[in-house]
Amino acid sequence: MVAGDYYEILGIPKNADEKEIKKAYRNLARKHHPDVCKEEGAEERFKQINEAYSVLSDPQKRAQYDHIGHESFTHASRGSYAGGGGFGGFSTDFSGFGDIFDFFGGGFGGQRQTGPRSGADLLMRLQVTLEDAVFGTEKEIEVSHTEPCPDCDGTGSETKKRVSCTTCGGSGQLRQMSQTIFGQFVRMSTCPDCRGAGKVPETRCHACRGTGVTQVRRKIQVRIPAGIDSGMRLRMEGYGEAGDIGAENGDLFIEIQVQPHDRFTRHGDNLEMVAEITPAQAVAGSEITVETLDKKQIDLTIPPGIQHDTALKIPGEGVRRRGRPGDLLVRIAVRIPRQLSPELRELYEKILEIEGSKAGQEKKGFFSGFMGKK
Ligand SMILES: [Zn+2]
Ligand SMILES: [Zn+2]
Repeated sequence: MVAGDYYEILGIPKNADEKEIKKAYRNLARKHHPDVCKEEGAEERFKQINEAYSVLSDPQKRAQYDHIGHESFTHASRGSYAGGGGFGGFSTDFSGFGDIFDFFGGGFGGQRQTGPRSGADLLMRLQVTLEDAVFGTEKEIEVSHTEPCPDCDGTGSETKKRVSCTTCGGSGQLRQMSQTIFGQFVRMSTCPDCRGAGKVPETRCHACRGTGVTQVRRKIQVRIPAGIDSGMRLRMEGYGEAGDIGAENGDLFIEIQVQPHDRFTRHGDNLEMVAEITPAQAVAGSEITVETLDKKQIDLTIPPGIQHDTALKIPGEGVRRRGRPGDLLVRIAVRIPRQLSPELRELYEKILEIEGSKAGQEKKGFFSGFMGKK
């Protein structure tokens, strides 16, 4: 549906700053606003412009978008990422709109109050392993949401017919007059009987008790894109609650929680692990083999004289994302042996003796008995 990514839609470079983004958006939105532009596809184009702006104008969403790429961002299994902070999809994200389009007479804002209401968004949390987060996967999840009642086709009526609401006379709104010293005030409120729809079921459907919706559990496939991290949200369009008749469903948001791994920790795009070596390996240098997250065996050279807690880098074995994979950091832990074979003990004592004679001073501790008698 979209020609190009969000930057192309707004016609700005990838490194555009806030000002440039806003300026491009204002110009384009003015040009393509459906009230102004009668060209075919203007509305769709206008929606894309708003979608692009809602992402790029939000630093958090923009960072996610840049991180994960357009394809994953918008099509993560019919879903898309939504910013961790702002809950609510692109369709409702018309922020920054009012200040531009005041002069059109408030086309959008006012109309949302009446008519059928779209369904509510749902949020669920999904735990994934570090492997799944790094390499991506498909998961089947079960969601419990409302869908249009099959008995009455969502009308809420046995006859599948809806009639004008008598409470509000079909307007969906109630007028409340009040007299004050400033004059007469009219307050409009949504009709509670038809919930603003202006219509009610002719004969109440037994299956859904006139609500037009039923609660169902559905299994759905979710594609977890590679590189996803804790706190990121996938948006499954239309998998939220059913809306009123004629209105859109809400969306399902899946918030990802990456489970801790017993060998690897994640720091942005880098993975970190600990490799244990002996004092001799640290002193003389050595070759060790480390296993990556995807079970690859990689040879790593330990340079002589390495200090405890030093991190060695294996490039490209971190979290993979478009273009640039992160690194694997191998943190070296020098482990002191608790038990020694007689041969090793002798050697360590020999070392100690050499060190002692060099330093020329008495050492205290475990070996001090030997040291004193030379
Ligand atoms: Zn009503
Ligand atoms: Zn029904």
